[in-house]
Amino acid sequence: MFIFHSIESYHQSLLNGQTSCEEAVLHYFEKIKQDAHLNAWLEIYEEEALIQAKKLDESRLAGKTVGKLHGVITGLKDVICYKGHKVSASSLILENFTSLYNATATQQLLNEDAIIIGRQNCDEFAMGGSNENSAYGHVKNPNDVERVSGGSSGGSAVAVKAGHCMISLGSDTGGSVRQPADFCGVIGMKPTYGTISRYGLIAYASSFDQIGIFANSIEDVSLVLDVISGADEFDSTAIQENFIKQEVGQTKEKFKICYFKNAIEHTALDKNISNSIKGFIDKLSSEGHAVEAINFDLLEYIVPTYYILTTAEASSNLSRFDGVKYGYRNKNEENDLLQMYKLSRSEGFGAEVKRRILLGTFVLSEGYYDAYFTKAQQVRKLLIDETTSIFEKYDAIILPTSPTPAFKIGEMKDPIEIFLADIYTVFANLVGIPAISIPLFKTPDGLPFGLQVMADKKNDLLLLSISKKMMEL
Ligand code: GLN
Repeated sequence: MFIFHSIESYHQSLLNGQTSCEEAVLHYFEKIKQDAHLNAWLEIYEEEALIQAKKLDESRLAGKTVGKLHGVITGLKDVICYKGHKVSASSLILENFTSLYNATATQQLLNEDAIIIGRQNCDEFAMGGSNENSAYGHVKNPNDVERVSGGSSGGSAVAVKAGHCMISLGSDTGGSVRQPADFCGVIGMKPTYGTISRYGLIAYASSFDQIGIFANSIEDVSLVLDVISGADEFDSTAIQENFIKQEVGQTKEKFKICYFKNAIEHTALDKNISNSIKGFIDKLSSEGHAVEAINFDLLEYIVPTYYILTTAEASSNLSRFDGVKYGYRNKNEENDLLQMYKLSRSEGFGAEVKRRILLGTFVLSEGYYDAYFTKAQQVRKLLIDETTSIFEKYDAIILPTSPTPAFKIGEMKDPIEIFLADIYTVFANLVGIPAISIPLFKTPDGLPFGLQVMADKKNDLLLLSISKKMMEL
């Protein structure tokens, strides 16, 4: 029987002849079929994955050099373009739309011989935190199928947790990799803004969006990060220098860590979560790390700032879906052009996406622009300044990932309540720093939840080293 521990050990088994890429592919497709009720995948590429696996097996057996991700079974969130394959952002407006080119991240995976086996369900246009906003049905949590997977990259987190693939790529605009990782019990990392090219990632809010990685070990995350990061002439916001070089674990032994006292003591935070994190802080201190409490005065401004700026960017980014350039068009020939735009968008977009387009249009509208958009930009600047001064003193910040563990499907109805649940994750996107959720804890009922760790911009490798240490404690 095929068993996966890490990419490194998989590669060893391949080289020893104990397994093959073909066996791996067959194993994962079998598992995906058994778990069809989780609704994690929108499509799987069975035939072509098998062909690719056989080719890789042949070339390896012929002694040819193997790529860094040789035969690594990979899933892509349905917002990352893969040439010749459908990409819909889990929306009706892009139903049956086929990618004309590869996202840079996809191309880099393929260059290193990863096997992409399918596209994964998510919240429509990556807007949401429970995967209840997909036009193709919600995704179920493998730990308890009555609960949400988290979102928006729910399918990608579930796929890694349930053993449908070795790694997944998701996208994180305000927590969409870390929060489903937290709810499912896997590692989810969002690198520094600009580390991975956004070329070929369907845009939600461009100054926040970043591709992120789901995996079962820090080593696997860092290997994938190494492969898909780097400068890209197609994305001017991609960081030019390649700072993802050194090996994980080569940094110092003891760290200076802080946590936001007002976040850990927030009334909305589940008691199991605050107690577990407090217990973990004691453990870190007893291991010789310096852990200090600080007060983060801007905490209550984080969520409103995020929702003003991201909806503003989204209203602009999503204006391209008009029934003419892309995807779905209302077919009634009697309509004039304006009517066609209106109907195509009204019928193609789901409720949450419409809510955000309306909100974003409002905050950008004449008369309100300064009161909302400009103000929020100013707050973003304050947050960045405050964060810079924190990292002058500390290596890392720890926070919860989410205020609660995975909730029941259908339980959270109030959009404001849902927005407020993003309080701990959106911060990293507002200031552009790397952040990760590591699966350290369980509730008394056995539901997993993670610890969120953040480091300064471009300190992604330090973040991974710290996370590795924490997971070994
Ligand atoms: N839950 C957040 C939102 O709905 C985050 C989404 C994301 O990171 N894509 O905006």
